[in-house]
Amino acid sequence: MPLPKKKTSKSRQGRRRTHISMRTPSLVVCPQCRSPRPSHQACPVCGTYRGREVLNVTARAARRAGGSE
Ligand SMILES: [Zn+2]
Repeated sequence: MPLPKKKTSKSRQGRRRTHISMRTPSLVVCPQCRSPRPSHQACPVCGTYRGREVLNVTARAARRAGGSE
């Protein structure tokens, strides 16, 4: 089995991981209900995207509350 010739130093390990970090989610305000929602995604509160209803929010809420239908 191939093995690395040298131990990876802490600084090299850190340099490799410079782009491994959490990012704040980009939120926009929903034009329908004015609540924050992730951009390019349907609003989880009112279930609309670009002024059109794409999610049945009441069914989702019932499923979440009641477990299995
Ligand atoms: Zn909304």
